[in-house]
Amino acid sequence: HHSVDHATVDKVKAAIDAGHTHADMPDYEGLDAYRAGGGYDVLLGLRRDGDWAAVQDKVAASGLRGLGGAGFPSGKKWGFVRAEPGPRLMAVNGDEGEPGTFKDRWYLERTPHLFLEGMLVAAWAVEAERVYLYMRDEYPAVLNILRNELHALEDAGIIARGYVDLRRGAGAYICGEESAMIESIEGKRGIPRHRPPFVAQRGIFGRPTLVHNVETLVWVARVLREGPEILSSVERNGRKGLRNYSVSGRVAVPGVYLLPAGSTIRDVIAAAGGMAEGHEFLAYQPGGPSSGLLPASIDDVPLDFDTLQKYGTFIGSAAVVVLSHRDSARGAALNMLEFFADESCGQCTPCRVGCEKAVKLMQADNWDADLLTDLCDVMVDASICGLGQAAPNPIRSVLTHFKDEV
Ligand code: SF4
Repeated sequence: HHSVDHATVDKVKAAIDAGHTHADMPDYEGLDAYRAGGGYDVLLGLRRDGDWAAVQDKVAASGLRGLGGAGFPSGKKWGFVRAEPGPRLMAVNGDEGEPGTFKDRWYLERTPHLFLEGMLVAAWAVEAERVYLYMRDEYPAVLNILRNELHALEDAGIIARGYVDLRRGAGAYICGEESAMIESIEGKRGIPRHRPPFVAQRGIFGRPTLVHNVETLVWVARVLREGPEILSSVERNGRKGLRNYSVSGRVAVPGVYLLPAGSTIRDVIAAAGGMAEGHEFLAYQPGGPSSGLLPASIDDVPLDFDTLQKYGTFIGSAAVVVLSHRDSARGAALNMLEFFADESCGQCTPCRVGCEKAVKLMQADNWDADLLTDLCDVMVDASICGLGQAAPNPIRSVLTHFKDEV
């Protein structure tokens, strides 16, 4: 996994051919195996005589940034949460509901303890009284693994019984939004909150809450075990770090690929074994449906926060979907808006009505570009949360790059 080469690609192809891609209970690294390799030494050492600010500095030195879309430097949040009076809490966003994303699952089904150690380090850093682990219910194997391994940690005395509360999400995309996830953890309907206050100040049950996603915590553990250089020493196209891309669509070998953060779409497609046979590269979704689409002609830019911003999009969770000449950008964009219309929580009008209106307008043979642009502006300006604010991106990208299709 850690360096994508043709041998790996061949192995995956062979596994797919043999029908071995979806084992019921994957072979994963259990607690004993993880500890035998030095696992939990970092956590236990920190609990003995660690300095949270030094840990924060180390994570910052790696250049690790949050993967939720905003690209916030990881570890920085710890200071915000710590600045609030206790008791403090932590929540892990394991909802992974972004269409085309499956990297968390990849880690959790293989090295769950790398994630769990990162989680417990972050919990230690903010002195969290309890950790709520919000997991996607559509990942039954992951839930089984986590149940088993949390018990193993309790039995080993690494965590107190009940310290980590494993919660099952119920399949709502909006519950990947952190404040909606918190509502859901509190037992309410998952709808986003207005900010401020931010969840670092008032999160679960009004308490200061640290929220991280799964991949960030895997990296926290790796940076502390292997040093910040594992990220900061990798450079491509002037960008530092590594990123897990979930790659699907018209590529030869869909999967999770760990590549330099400065990779271009061409690098990503190459890692996935190239285009699928008989398919010519047309367009791609760089980071989930909220990121919209980019045309194949923009194939030489690094897929990172700063560069993609210039193209009106973002890398987000790095859910890359590759489209070919057998697809259409307008069809893909319509599909994305239908998804948002389905998943809108309905709390605010610009998003609830806007998504539905957009779907109708996009079904017309010829798009009313002025009306759609107006609608997009209102949705961006007046929606409460990221779903409604980003839902127009697929429309805008078609109007910018695929005008001849509409
Ligand atoms: Fe709900 Fe959409 Fe408003 Fe977000 S933008 S709060 S998903 S209606």
